[in-house]
Order: sequence, then C-alpha cells, then structure tokens
Amino acid sequence: MSLPQYEVYALKYAHHDRRAAENFIGGDPHDAPMPLDYFVWLVRGEGRELLVDTGFSRARAAKRGREHLRCPAESLRLLGADAGQLRDVMITHLHYDHVGNFALFPAATFHLQEREMRYATGRYMCNECFRGAFEVEDVVGMVRRVYQGRVHFHDGDAQLFPGLSLHLIGGHTMGLQAVRVATRRGWLVLASDASHLYANMEQERPFPIVWSVAEMVDGYRRLRALADSPQHIIPGHDPLVLERYPAPTAALQGVVARLD
Ligand SMILES: [Zn+2]
Repeated sequence: MSLPQYEVYALKYAHHDRRAAENFIGGDPHDAPMPLDYFVWLVRGEGRELLVDTGFSRARAAKRGREHLRCPAESLRLLGADAGQLRDVMITHLHYDHVGNFALFPAATFHLQEREMRYATGRYMCNECFRGAFEVEDVVGMVRRVYQGRVHFHDGDAQLFPGLSLHLIGGHTMGLQAVRVATRRGWLVLASDASHLYANMEQERPFPIVWSVAEMVDGYRRLRALADSPQHIIPGHDPLVLERYPAPTAALQGVVARLD
C-alpha cells in the first residue's frame, strides 16, 4: 500500500537575535551570534490542511522582546490557506511561541499531549525556571477550549491520519510532541523544540530551557529513528531551514520554505 505524500511548509513569523551561549546548556566557548527564527508549519494533501503550532501575537512579541514579522495566521494566506477554516491544529507544546493566537482558529480542534496540559497546570509551574516560557493566558485559553470540547488529548504516540502521526518526546517540556509526515521524499519529522537548532541534536548539546535533560537527549535519538535520514528532521527554530530548503515561489524567499 503506498503512503500519502503530503506537502510540508515552514512559515517564518518572527526572529530573535541572541548569542550562541543562550542556546546550549553550559554555554558555548565561541559564543558568536546565533539567532532563532520562529515558525509555524503547514501540512497539506489528501484533501486536508493541517497546521502545526500557532505562534505568538505582535503584543506578545513586544512583551518578550522578539521581532514580530507577520501574524502567523495571516501568513497562511501566502499559501492560500484560511486560518478560519482549518479543522486540525497540532500543538507541539504549550510554550508562548507555539500556542498563542489560537483564537484565530475558530474551527479547529487542537491536538495536544495529555502530559503537556498536566505540566502546564500542575505543581512545576510554581517554579519560574519551568513556567518562564509559558504565558498563563495561553494556558487558560487552552483550558477553556477543553471545556468547549475543542481539545483532542493524546497519550503518547498517535496516528491522526494515514501518513501523519504525533510522537511524545518530552524533554523540553513534559509533553512535547513531534509530528511525523509521509512526503514524496520519505518520512519527514517536524521536531519543533525537541531540537531548537540543528546543532542541538547533531552535537547532542541540549537547549537550556528544559524539563528533563535525559528525555531531551533521548529525544534526539528518537527523532533520528522516526525520520528517513538526518536531512528529514526539521528543527524548531533554526534560521538554516530557510537556507537549506527552497521557497515555493520567488516572492516567498526568506518567508516560507517547502520541506518535502
Ligand atoms: Zn519554541
């Protein structure tokens, strides 16, 4: 039986200039500039369109000192997708840069790991080191969607559709999940923050915002096992993604990369 072949796009919506030392536990001896890009990902094919993560708003960017380039929901229009119509949105984890803006997706069911909600609403949020990358209003907003029947919880790995599955990785947060997609070039894995940058997983140097270092390092192996090759793993925040993959059209250079 042949697998579906989904198209997969990374859409950049924000940027943050920072030093390499901020991206690795224990810092970085060279400590050169090593910026982060912020993305959402569109998966399209088999008569459906799905989004991975929802990004943050301009107001949130101002609060956190990030450079906001465009509304993630709006940027979907660059690819002819309508945020208001999307029925399935996969949330890799509940950090502010992955789950803001969900009000812009009124038709969506949000796919989330049960453990992530437990983490974001449980005792570890009493500690600044764990809650720092969460925004309480985002978490509360997601709780409201639970009460509206708009959240589909997953407990571990789950197939959403043929050729499209969620995989509990943990590490960065308790319930972080990666997304595995069948494409024309094989199994692609959207790692999200299971590896912020190529360097985190390739050099096995964990990112400093972390729930469990052990799970994070195990996660690098897990990503490699899920993907057809290391070139099939897409890190969550690496500006190199836009250099390594082509834009779907010349006009979208530096904004959208086609990953499949
Ligand atoms: Zn992130």
